[in-house]
Amino acid sequence: MLHLRLVSIASLALLLPAQTDAPQNLAARALGATPLLSDLSELCDGIGGRPTGSPACERAVEWAARKFREAGADRVSVETFTVPNLWLPISAEASALSPEKFPVRIAAAPFSPSTDGAIEALVVDAGEGGAEVLAKLGDALKGAIVLIHSREMKSFDDLFGEYMRNGVLVDAARKYRPAAMLLQSTRPRGLLYRHPVTLDSSLAPVPMAIVGREQAERMGRLAAKGKVRMRLSLQNRTGGSYESKNVIAEVRGREKPDEVVLLGAHLDSWDLGTGAEDNGANSAMLIDALRGFKELKIVPRRTIRFALFTGEEQGMWGSAGYVKRHRSEMEKHVMAVVFDTGSGRLSGFYLNGRDELRKPLNAALAAVSGFNAGEHLVDGIDGTDNFDFAISGIPNLVGIQDPAPYLADYHAESDTVDRVNTREEKVTEAIASAVAWSFAESPERPAWRQSRAEVEKLLMDTKLDQQMKAFGQWDDFKSGKRGYVK
Ligand SMILES: [Zn+2]
Repeated sequence: MLHLRLVSIASLALLLPAQTDAPQNLAARALGATPLLSDLSELCDGIGGRPTGSPACERAVEWAARKFREAGADRVSVETFTVPNLWLPISAEASALSPEKFPVRIAAAPFSPSTDGAIEALVVDAGEGGAEVLAKLGDALKGAIVLIHSREMKSFDDLFGEYMRNGVLVDAARKYRPAAMLLQSTRPRGLLYRHPVTLDSSLAPVPMAIVGREQAERMGRLAAKGKVRMRLSLQNRTGGSYESKNVIAEVRGREKPDEVVLLGAHLDSWDLGTGAEDNGANSAMLIDALRGFKELKIVPRRTIRFALFTGEEQGMWGSAGYVKRHRSEMEKHVMAVVFDTGSGRLSGFYLNGRDELRKPLNAALAAVSGFNAGEHLVDGIDGTDNFDFAISGIPNLVGIQDPAPYLADYHAESDTVDRVNTREEKVTEAIASAVAWSFAESPERPAWRQSRAEVEKLLMDTKLDQQMKAFGQWDDFKSGKRGYVK
């Protein structure tokens, strides 16, 4: 009897008309009492920082798969992919030896090699490390610990500038062979963070680390007066390619289950903090968004896939791996929406070069228009998990969120749960759920897949091609190793 009864309820659900108040109900639930914050604490306080390739990342993957199952997902799969290079920190110690002795706080820069045990060398101050200054110092850099000054980071543009400087530093390191490079922290009051010095996870030519801002200033002042000698030991685990995992969960569509609307966030993080803003908040948000669909028994026309990627911090390898694994299904991917800027207020979406997405997006936002998330920007984004969808022609969006509280704690020791703006994150969940429902429910697809020629034109028009060259991604796209396959 029980069996028959279940069957009859299930067939009834198939006959129900579209639940037109679904987005409002999803939003109301998201704003109420949910396990969002307790989930986030389990992930960040319980598991902690979780760089891809670490045991903590493995635990986070198991945790997320269990959470999705407990939330009632119709399907949960843990899917492997390949990360090209392993880099994990072991230890980092430094001290000034002369003219004064004092300990120096440092954090190894991802993708830089270890020192050969503890090394001792003279400090050479190379100012802000411009190409001309480094070339002028030339052979004076050989065997030295090169100190590079940085301006304080106050905006996303400053952060972008910090990444764009990598090329010059790595080139100079290769050419002049210093013993190591110490990059001044862009954040005051001793704050340390992980700053990847290559963006394709390839190994840098010499050991590099971030050094506390005020201590870097002190060493600079001492070096201006005379010789400064330091001891430095950086031990990192480096290696070749290895497997990591994405967690993919589904709310299965009632009419077009093979068509997919994907919501994505990355589950991995750097390790000095606990990856709360980057990007635990949005990972927990996606888990709770799926929970909302299941609790309210909302079954959209198409399938909604909730993707928690890893390998993002190493070069978006999880989402790249997803696109590769699901290439035969890409045609059926209607939209990919990615969240990766912490818990600041969501003001709109990056359209990633496709202004034609504005209209269907605004239609999708209509049910939650009270949240004012309509300030979209047409800019193309390279640097989070929408990227491999974009270069495969799939319509894609990235949430635009207030840089506070994200930016100040980005990759830093201070990226912890107490920084998270729970109220705004709940609003983000309300908007994400409503938008996903609308794209999954609307009879027409919001936009079509672009051809490779259209993708190439978009990359030129948005100047993403230049960024891809700087990030070491362009050759992989041109050769077909990454992105568009049909
Ligand atoms: Zn992130």
